[in-house]
Amino acid sequence: MSATFKAILVTRDEDKRQSAAVTEISESDLMDGDVTVRVEATTVNYKDGLAVTGRAPVVRRFPLVPGIDFAGTIVRSAHRDWAAGDRVILNGYGVGETHHGAYAEIARVSGDWLVPLPAGMSATTAMAIGTAGYTAMLSIMALERHGLVPADGPAIVTGAAGGVGSVAIALLSRLGWTVIASTGRPEEAAYLKGLGASEVIDRAELSGPAKPLSRERWIAGVDSVGSHTLANVLSMTRYGGAIAACGLAQGMDLPASVAPFILRGVALLGIDSVMAPKARRLAAWERLGRDLDPARIEAITTTIGFDDIIPAAHDILDGKVRGRLVVRM
Ligand code: NDP
Repeated sequence: MSATFKAILVTRDEDKRQSAAVTEISESDLMDGDVTVRVEATTVNYKDGLAVTGRAPVVRRFPLVPGIDFAGTIVRSAHRDWAAGDRVILNGYGVGETHHGAYAEIARVSGDWLVPLPAGMSATTAMAIGTAGYTAMLSIMALERHGLVPADGPAIVTGAAGGVGSVAIALLSRLGWTVIASTGRPEEAAYLKGLGASEVIDRAELSGPAKPLSRERWIAGVDSVGSHTLANVLSMTRYGGAIAACGLAQGMDLPASVAPFILRGVALLGIDSVMAPKARRLAAWERLGRDLDPARIEAITTTIGFDDIIPAAHDILDGKVRGRLVVRM
């Protein structure tokens, strides 16, 4: 292991202006943790875009190595559950926000935050799934816990051509759901149908102010968009249905009515991946290893290099990234 290694560092100047650059750091720059990991693959999620560009206050400690998830091999461990050579995944827990994250060749973290790489899954596949795909799985598990099954009716996926959306479509269709994909990129209709969507709708249908109730169109949904889109999705959910809300690509507000809840018994299921309990994480990754067609995950993935991370962070916020990005270290 060389004395210094490549990392991205987010810094802030005296006027609190944030910037990000590729640099070299050493292990002594890393934060406390009982496990040291050689990062083999990472990714660029929407949240990483916010962190690297500073467009939202995701980074809350400076200087900081961003990057909210990685897969790699343990090089040293003082944690009872882990030994050198173990292959692991990390998502969330404030990594890339308050604790040095994935955009470095070496990461030092708490062993409590790690889950094993599922048998037969490569580090690059794990990051092709990444926090976005793991969040899609958590969303579907929440719909299942609500008791919904494919025979109940179709499922809507918003932000369909994005990371959460693409993986949600691939998973739902593999599980037997009829999927309606909402996108602002009609040119991606063939891509979305290839992932398993039966119908593609224009996101403009859902992005304006919502009526309290509209025509019932779906029984379930995975929403990564929030704001008016989520309000419309709720207003069009069939009696007894549920929507898993996990994102805010349109906005953090929710200009909705209680009508769908009190007149149609619709449920809004909140999804958080960052602090999700370990048992649920293990279940989600086990399901991802089982329920996701590897060919479909390959079809949604673009591989980039370390030096491409910063430009990709800008691209993802501009809605220019389709599916998932994997960074090979
Ligand atoms: P992506 O950028 O890959 O996908 C977001 C998609 O949302 C875009 O591709 C686009 O889809 C759609 N979109 C973007 N802007 C707008 C807009 N103004 N109005 C309507 N739709 C829009 O991001 P990710 O998939 O990585 O993340 C999606 C969301 O989920 C983010 O808000 C992220 O913060 C959140 N998230 C939350 C997690 C949690 O723990 N709750 C974990 C992971 C992600 P299209 O082009 O098809 O219209």
